Amino acid sequence: MIVLARRLGALAVTAAAALTLTGAPAQASPAPIDVRLIGFNDFHGNLEPPAGSSGRVTLSDGTSVVAGGAAYLATHVKQLRTKNTLVFSAGDNVGASPLASALFHDEPTIDFMNDIGVNASAVGNHELDKGYQELLRKQFGGCAEDTGCQFDQPFKGAKWPYLAANMTFDNGLPAALPFTVDFAGGVPVGVIGVPLKDLPSVTSADAIKGLKFGDEVQAINSSADVLDRLGVKTIVVLLHQGDNTEGGGPDDCKTDPGPALAIAQAASPKVDVIFSGHSHQQYNCTVNDPAGNPRPLIQGASFGRLLSVVDLKIDPRTRDAIRSKTVAHNEVVTRDVTPDPTVQTLVTKAVTQAAPIANKAVGTITSDIVAAQQPSGESPLGDVIGDAQLAATKSAGAQVALTNPGGIRADLNFKSATAGVADGTVTYANAFTIQPFANILQTVTLTGAQLKAVLEQQWQPQPNGTVSTKMLQISSSLHYTWSASAPIGSRVTAITVDGQPVTPDASYKVTANNFLTGGGDGFSVLKQGTGIVGGAIDLDAFTAYLTAHQNLAPPAADRVTRTS
Ligand SMILES: [Zn+2]
Repeated sequence: MIVLARRLGALAVTAAAALTLTGAPAQASPAPIDVRLIGFNDFHGNLEPPAGSSGRVTLSDGTSVVAGGAAYLATHVKQLRTKNTLVFSAGDNVGASPLASALFHDEPTIDFMNDIGVNASAVGNHELDKGYQELLRKQFGGCAEDTGCQFDQPFKGAKWPYLAANMTFDNGLPAALPFTVDFAGGVPVGVIGVPLKDLPSVTSADAIKGLKFGDEVQAINSSADVLDRLGVKTIVVLLHQGDNTEGGGPDDCKTDPGPALAIAQAASPKVDVIFSGHSHQQYNCTVNDPAGNPRPLIQGASFGRLLSVVDLKIDPRTRDAIRSKTVAHNEVVTRDVTPDPTVQTLVTKAVTQAAPIANKAVGTITSDIVAAQQPSGESPLGDVIGDAQLAATKSAGAQVALTNPGGIRADLNFKSATAGVADGTVTYANAFTIQPFANILQTVTLTGAQLKAVLEQQWQPQPNGTVSTKMLQISSSLHYTWSASAPIGSRVTAITVDGQPVTPDASYKVTANNFLTGGGDGFSVLKQGTGIVGGAIDLDAFTAYLTAHQNLAPPAADRVTRTS
């Protein structure tokens, strides 16, 4: 809090200086000042060029190009820089990261952002995955409590401020800087950061204990009013919230109306640009503010594949952006440029140092625990993951955990694939290979009827007359029977939770990952769950379970019974 006060004090002084500097008499139409803003979002520690579809950008014509990689991104930022350029992030740069970043608490990613000269970042939900103290450590530096300084000696923290205008302590006091002021071409540019107000639904309750997340528009507007009174007229919002799209290229605006559009339409007319994030989509929209003036609402996919570039023309007399002259585009981070040598050295160091740590044992098993499903649809590894997810969310009152089979990507082998030893060791890298998506666990309340409906949705008729089968993997607290010959929609019987028959009107707290609770894989009934509470990341739940259950044997796979 002392640092916060000091920064706010410095801010007031610089803003006052800006006032006096620009108090000169008006001249006849002085040339506007060009200021370029470069934004990115949801980098998620992708220091190495991301692989597969995570490393491609779909263009407007439906074709795609490879994109991303920190060293390429750094070169693109250098090439895009003009005389007056500011670089911003809309959050989720850390967390849910590949091993080379994740194993070092994402310190290499903070270093990378320091290297490319980031001026400010919003706090995203993943910045809080490991709690508020860890966010402070990312900001101010110091060694991690659990592992000490493993990467930088010591870790110096971010050179730019983390912003969260709507994040307060329970007592209402700010828990982060709401905004900062940068200067470009002699003009003060106010930058307001805002995480989504629904952050508690995508973050573990333990991680955000004592924190509150208020309405985004209210927070933006009150910060914009303060900035305006300080004489800061060009104002940018870094919003960690985004909309979904129905396809389109980087500069299309095929968004479904969602929370980001609603915020962009309602936020103060004092705001000139809105960088968004969180939904990992690409779009470049123009949205009218409440006064009817256009402003960009832009997002650059994820993993460092796009840079969102906004060119402002600022009237030196008003120090405000001339809205009609704003031009925005998403620049693809292609891999046909020379990788930035400084960042490449950093990435190589992280990858090299991660290898031995990735081989750290997180548990032991007595024999192979495979993901392959038995005729009932149940798999031994699915059972373990179901049990791990239930254990990780017991504190939220969870009674049952369900997970999608597509989220289990490999087997647990007695001979470790990464450590190369046949002694039942499970390494962190093994666990990571099995649960790589860093989905967040969520616990929702379903009625017994809804729980049955979810299980019935394991069989979905397709337009071509076939049936798509996706057998959920479940915790040991849930048992049921199903009949392959019964009609779809009434195949499931004899459902019990903790040995008690499930009744349609009773309530059950059910844990699933955020892919499923969002209705993924056609499990639309899970979306109807109420009282949603965030939990740990699936991989963390899995490794914690393996550590707590050494010499784990394959479960009996007796939770699901199939008749005929
Ligand atoms: Zn996010």
